[in-house]
Amino acid sequence: MTVVDARPDLPDGVGAGGPGHDVTTRVREGRHAVLLSDDGVRMSGVDDLGAGRGPSWLDAWLAGNIGDLVAWRRHLHANPELSRQEFATTDLVAGLLKSVGLRPWVLPGGTGLICDVGEGDTCVALRADLDALPLPELTDLPFRSTVDGACHACGHDVHTTALLGAALAMAAAPALPGRVRFIFQPAEETMPGGALDVIAAGGLDGVERIFGLHCDPRLEVGSVGTRVGPITAAADLLELRLTSPGGHTSRPHLTADLVHALGTVITGLPTLLSRRVDPRSGTVLVWGAVHAGEAANAVPQDGVLRGTLRTGDRDTWAELSPLVAGLVESLLVPTGVGFDLQHRRGVPVVVNEEESTEILRAGVAAAVGAEALTSTKQSSGGEDFGWYLERVPGSFARLGVWSGEGLLGDIHRPTFVADERALPVAVRVLVHTALAASAAH
Ligand SMILES: [Zn+2]
Ligand SMILES: [Zn+2]
Repeated sequence: MTVVDARPDLPDGVGAGGPGHDVTTRVREGRHAVLLSDDGVRMSGVDDLGAGRGPSWLDAWLAGNIGDLVAWRRHLHANPELSRQEFATTDLVAGLLKSVGLRPWVLPGGTGLICDVGEGDTCVALRADLDALPLPELTDLPFRSTVDGACHACGHDVHTTALLGAALAMAAAPALPGRVRFIFQPAEETMPGGALDVIAAGGLDGVERIFGLHCDPRLEVGSVGTRVGPITAAADLLELRLTSPGGHTSRPHLTADLVHALGTVITGLPTLLSRRVDPRSGTVLVWGAVHAGEAANAVPQDGVLRGTLRTGDRDTWAELSPLVAGLVESLLVPTGVGFDLQHRRGVPVVVNEEESTEILRAGVAAAVGAEALTSTKQSSGGEDFGWYLERVPGSFARLGVWSGEGLLGDIHRPTFVADERALPVAVRVLVHTALAASAAH
């Protein structure tokens, strides 16, 4: 099988992989598509678990395009791009959207794009993220990453492709109840995240509700996990730099004992936080790095401490910065060392709004049946979708990608794999959620 990419501006062989999974490009009958050529990656064999559930235009679009959907995903998977470098991914999505007459606009940073389908003063937004992680891929997939040290270990290739499919399917609908905005966001994996770029570019203007899905390898394909209230955690970075005049360890009273001061903060700050913050908030500070000194008999002149501070409670997150600053000061002032604390706010807690979550659940039930619905726990991971929900109501759900066989994996692992039957499930859920939300005006 050959393949394709109809973007005329792409050179032949763009994204070509290593032996056994070449990707070639050519124009196929004037339409945009990317298919992989390797015999091991036939496009058939991906079942549409929601087939026949309607509406008829969605059934027809999936029946006609499920092979391309899988192929686009495999192309993205083989050609991962890191945060704010998603140029080819942006090009691919933009080209396919334009090929059906849509008019996507690329964000000012050159990666990420937004595209509206349908008419209306206000709209419902659906969001996917485009970026890969700086990790090597350690799977034996025939379409595994061809880029050293980068892979789609968080499933954003699945998110991107599913949202693309939803946009193309809705563009093929004879009529829509309202306008739907498709947000292909760059840079979810970095701080500050690309959600802020989308918002700064006006991506939320006129948006009444926003929805998103994320791959969950601990949930079986065909299932969607939803939750009202917090579903992820907030995560901040702390970096503390200490300075001292230094000196001989025989005379600590004549200098400021920097290593002792570091130790005081290493144990003191997490302990004090556990007594000053409501333990039900799930707030935890864990240090990941400490560096200072070399000689056994010399007090060093500088040192650094880095860690992450997480909380599962939105209100607590808002109060942490001044609290941490005050506690660090109270721990270090008596030691005499100089200090500089950098508290980098990360992402807010994703807090799912109740009515939006009901709409999403209705979307899932219509898309693949009510039996697909399951509850999900709050994760201690961060997700920059939280920035959107600080501004408009919405809901974020977990998309099952576990095949049902073998060990449960996890995202952000080099061995992460997603069952591709999740692609048509996600397309159906996104489309039906948008329809349900538009109807709920
Ligand atoms: Zn991730
Ligand atoms: Zn992710």
